[in-house]
Amino acid sequence: MGMLQGKVAVVTGGTRGIGLAIVKAFLQEGASVALFGSRKETVDKALAALKEENAAYPVIGLSPDLGNYAEIESAMQEVKAKFGKIDILANNAGVSAREPIYEYDPAAFDKVINLNVNSVFYCSKAVAPIMKAQGGGSIINTSSMVSLYGQPSGCSYPASKFAVNGLTKSLARELGKDNIRVNAVLPGVTRTDMVAALPQAMVERIAATIPLGRVGEPEEVANAFVFLASDKASYITGALLSVDGATEV
Ligand code: NAD
Repeated sequence: MGMLQGKVAVVTGGTRGIGLAIVKAFLQEGASVALFGSRKETVDKALAALKEENAAYPVIGLSPDLGNYAEIESAMQEVKAKFGKIDILANNAGVSAREPIYEYDPAAFDKVINLNVNSVFYCSKAVAPIMKAQGGGSIINTSSMVSLYGQPSGCSYPASKFAVNGLTKSLARELGKDNIRVNAVLPGVTRTDMVAALPQAMVERIAATIPLGRVGEPEEVANAFVFLASDKASYITGALLSVDGATEV
């Protein structure tokens, strides 16, 4: 039996990269999954790829605007109507940034914070009453290793992930009484489109400094989500779990 047999999960940013790996891992462990993506076309593409892997996967896709609380709330209700409950929320959608502060357009800063921080709050707020009513649940946020020490440009990105850690620690304390666990996974450099956009020399320089000698794979990050979502993690809440090969910068 899978580690998530009978559970229902929502994964934001589930169309590619780490999010798609989480969706696959949850399905392989027996969960039903609703993936959220930013556009219907990318959602349909991800669903087609998953159905190709296994036509029987219980998976649906929605594309609520993660900047709009009302749309998120109705998407969560749609998932609950389809699958009967929501046990797991993986707040994974996120964008990175590299702008030096001297050239940083304030509107671009806001955009990163809105997606990386506000959507975590919105999705958690929309799902918490559903989880409370059914006796509990597990919320897992995708943070980042840069949430521990920052980065030398694109300051919105680490700032947003410090905030994600803050939401994780605070909501763990607030929602513990409702048996809702809230944890964060802190990936290091992971082989996704986000990393493909970086100069190769930079990726190699980073890999050389990592004690495990390589960047991570999306599946290795997804495994941490499976564990934290499962009943094996029943006494773990408020944790920040690094999946980064012991990277230090
Ligand atoms: P990615 O760019 O491949 O995927 C990002 C996901 O977020 C996509 O599914 C995309 O649809 C979604 N998304 C982006 N903008 C959106 C919007 N406006 N509305 C809704 N959804 C939107 O990146 P990834 O590497 O898979 O990143 C996933 C998460 O992991 C992010 O939170 C990222 O910060 C975090 N992370 C990644 C790395 C890495 O090295 N790849 C390291 C640490 C943390």
